[in-house]
Amino acid sequence: MKIAIIGAGYGGMAAAYDLRKAGHDVTIFESADYVGGLASGFKEAHWDWSVEKFYHHWFQSDSHMLGLIRELGLSDKVMFPRPLTVMYDKGKFYPFDSILKALLFPGLGFGLDKIRFGFVGLYLRLTNNWRALEQVTADEWMMKWAGKNVYEKMWKPLLIGKFGPYYRDVNMAWMWARIKARTTRLGTFEGGFQKFADLFAEKLRGMGVDIRLGAQVKFIKRDQAGLSIAAGSVETFDRVLVTTSPNLLAKLCPDLPEDYLKGLLGLKSMGAVVMVFSLKHQLSTDGYYWFNLPKEAGFPMLALVEHTNYVSPEHFGGDHIVYAGDYLELGHEYFSLSDEQLLEIYLPALQKINPKFTREWVNKVWLFKTNYAQPVPLLSHSANIPDVKTPIEGLYFASMSQVYPWDRGTNFAVEIGRRAARMILGKA
Ligand SMILES: Cc1cc2nc3c(=O)[nH]c(=O)nc-3n(C[C@H](O)[C@H](O)[C@H](O)COP(=O)(O)OP(=O)(O)OC[C@H]3O[C@@H](n4cnc5c(N)ncnc54)[C@H](O)[C@@H]3O)c2cc1C
Repeated sequence: MKIAIIGAGYGGMAAAYDLRKAGHDVTIFESADYVGGLASGFKEAHWDWSVEKFYHHWFQSDSHMLGLIRELGLSDKVMFPRPLTVMYDKGKFYPFDSILKALLFPGLGFGLDKIRFGFVGLYLRLTNNWRALEQVTADEWMMKWAGKNVYEKMWKPLLIGKFGPYYRDVNMAWMWARIKARTTRLGTFEGGFQKFADLFAEKLRGMGVDIRLGAQVKFIKRDQAGLSIAAGSVETFDRVLVTTSPNLLAKLCPDLPEDYLKGLLGLKSMGAVVMVFSLKHQLSTDGYYWFNLPKEAGFPMLALVEHTNYVSPEHFGGDHIVYAGDYLELGHEYFSLSDEQLLEIYLPALQKINPKFTREWVNKVWLFKTNYAQPVPLLSHSANIPDVKTPIEGLYFASMSQVYPWDRGTNFAVEIGRRAARMILGKA
C-alpha cells in the first residue's frame, strides 16, 4: 500500500515505523523543518544537548515509549535521574516527591487532612475503574473524598493551572490517570529529546520512509483513485493517517461527515505559553527542579522548571536553563504579548525563587506558544472520543485528544500511532 502520514511527531513516526516494517510504501509530510512535533527541541551553538521547547520528561511507567526505544536499540541513551519537585506553602517551598516528603509537608497539617490525602492517593493508584470516575468532576470528587482543605491546597491549584476557566468541568478520570501513571524518577534522552527524534527519523529514512520536511498539507480529498493530498503538488495514496489537532483535521478534510466533524470541533483543549531562560547562574541553589506554583499566591505561571537541576549545565556550556510555563485558554493575553512584555511579567517570580536574581543574570530568552497543548476531558468524555478510523474510507486520525483516559504525552502518542498502524494493516 502507498501510505501518507501527516505529522512527524512521535505518533506519526511510530506509525511509520510499523507500517514500513510491514513492507508498505510510507511518506511523512511534516510542515515544520524538523521532526519531533510538540516534543522537539532547539540548541545554541555552544550547547552539546538540545533543550525541549516545552519541558519534557518520561515516567518509568511509559512502557510504550521505553519499549520503542528498546526496539530501536537506544535504551543505553535513556537516563532516569530523580529530580526534586517542590510544593509551595506560605512563602516557602517543600520537596514533595515521596510518601515521606508528603508526610512532612506542613501545608496539610499533621492530622486528618494528611490521612485523607494519603487514602485518596492510595485509592486512585489502586483502582482501575476510571469509567465510574469520568461520571463526576474532579472538583466534586475531591471536595467529597479528600475534603476542602486537601483539595484547595493540593489539587485545585493544579486544576486551575492546567484548565483555567474549565477547571470545575474536568472529570475525575483525568486526575486518576495522572496519579496512576506517574513516577518520581523522570527520564530523558542523552543529548535531549530532539536527539532522539533525529535518531528515530534517521532510522526511518534508513528503512526507506520518505520524510518530507517543510511540507504543509493543505487538504485531503477522497476520489476514485484514492486519497489525494495537497502539499505543493497533489499526490494520491491508498491510506492516510493524520496526527494533527482535531481542529486542523476538520479544516484539512471538510468532506468528513457532519457528525464526525461536529465531534472534532466539539473537543476542547488548552494552549500553552512557555518561556525558556538561559541564565548565568543557578536559580534554585537548593537544587529544586520542578516548582508547582499556585496562581492564588501571585505567581504569573503554573510551573517554573530548572532544567539544569535535572541534567547538568555542563551540557549547555555552563548556561542554566529555566522554563516558565503555563496552560492557557485560546485568546488569553499571554498569546499576544511579545518576549519582552512577558519577560517583565515573569522576572519578579524568578526573584521570589532566588532574591539574588537580577535581570543581568539573563543571557537570552526564547518564547514558544502552541494552541493545542492539553485536551480538556469533560464528564462522560469517553463518548466524545473520535474514532481512529474515520468515516472516510482509508483515512485515519490519531491525536492527543484520543489517548483518553490517559493524559497526553509522548508515550501515548507512540501507543496511538502504533494502534493506528495496526488498524491500517487490518490487524486491529
Ligand atoms: C507544555 C507541554 C509539556 C509537555 N510535557 C510532556 C512531558 O513531560 N512528557 C511527555 O511525554 N509529553 C509531554 N507533552 C506532550 C507531548 O509533547 C505530546 O503528547 C506529543 O508530542 C504528541 O505527539 P503527536 O505526534 O501526537 O503530535 P505532535 O507532536 O503535535 O505532532 C504533530 C505534527 O504534525 C505537524 N503538522 C501540523 N499540521 C500539519 C500540516 N498541515 N501538514 C503537515 N504537518 C503538519 C506538526 O508540525 C507536528 O510536528 C507536553 C506537551 C506540552 C505542550
